[in-house]
Amino acid sequence: MKAITVEPKKPGSARWEEVPEPAVSEGSVLVEAVAVGVCGTDVEIVEGKYGWPPPGQTRLVLGHESLGRVLDPGPSGGLRKGDLVVGIVRRPDPVPCPNCAVGEWDMCRNGEYTERGIKEIHGYMSERWRIEPEYAIKVDPSLGIHGVLLEPMTVIAKALEQVVAVGQRSFWEAKTVLVTGAGPIGLLAACGAKLHGKDVHVLDRVEAGPKPELVRALGATYHSGSVLRLPFEPDAIIECTGVGSVIADAIQKIGAGGVLCLTGVGGGGLSGYAVADVAAKVVLKNNVLVGSVNANKRHWYKASQALAEADRRWLSRLITRREKPESFEQALQRTPDDIKVVIQFSEA
Ligand SMILES: [Zn+2]
Repeated sequence: MKAITVEPKKPGSARWEEVPEPAVSEGSVLVEAVAVGVCGTDVEIVEGKYGWPPPGQTRLVLGHESLGRVLDPGPSGGLRKGDLVVGIVRRPDPVPCPNCAVGEWDMCRNGEYTERGIKEIHGYMSERWRIEPEYAIKVDPSLGIHGVLLEPMTVIAKALEQVVAVGQRSFWEAKTVLVTGAGPIGLLAACGAKLHGKDVHVLDRVEAGPKPELVRALGATYHSGSVLRLPFEPDAIIECTGVGSVIADAIQKIGAGGVLCLTGVGGGGLSGYAVADVAAKVVLKNNVLVGSVNANKRHWYKASQALAEADRRWLSRLITRREKPESFEQALQRTPDDIKVVIQFSEA
């Protein structure tokens, strides 16, 4: 079979090439790939900035936003041939740390977890892949190709759960939710918050293109420009840009008692904000800044429920481009109107 592979930390080494069939040791469920979403992490791996091959190997099969169809469910009773499934990305560390020991691998404390298509386990950009039945999440068959959005939705399911969990510390409810950044994660955050019945606002730099209309189609309000100029103070902010100035403005703008959940990973300066001044704002308004990454099985289940509830026509507008596996290089090139680009291996 063929797969998109890369030699991690070696720029320009990605290839669509012949590889052996997936090893039975990778799981008793055999799956035919339908589609795999592309995200910034894949681009970083191909650029040689990130990623680790499996122990004893030099190349890694890329891809972690999967969707596939079960070819052979193996001895497990929970799956049938033809089911649409998505593979969980992270596996607990082998020690394990206390969080991995109780199934909270998203909260791993020692960093020795592994991740399919990223860290020491082959990913899902191969014509066929295998998975352990307990890490295969069945998606609603009516979702079809949109099931490929499940992995990014799990990030949101966890982030929203974190906001609610933190909010329990006082008499508080997030009525108004601001999402900063209208990329795939931001738009799915808006969709998820809307399904929770929130008054949802999305802020992004762009004033044209598909994003403003996608936000309005959810019944949410779109804003461009500075967070500081918004005419309200949000109860909760889901930060999806990772941009220092946006984060600093979000800390200034969040309402008293509000929760700012950071999901974006950026880098760079403090944009002129002194840390002690930021801290003073957080102290005087009883704010919580909470970082959130990855997802555990509970979040995967919640995300699958949320995606099944979402409007299919709206979801279909998030997938702005489909490329063939042999054209993976085009899939990794972002164009201004791209939201989610997927590599399609077979029909959903
Ligand atoms: Zn752990």
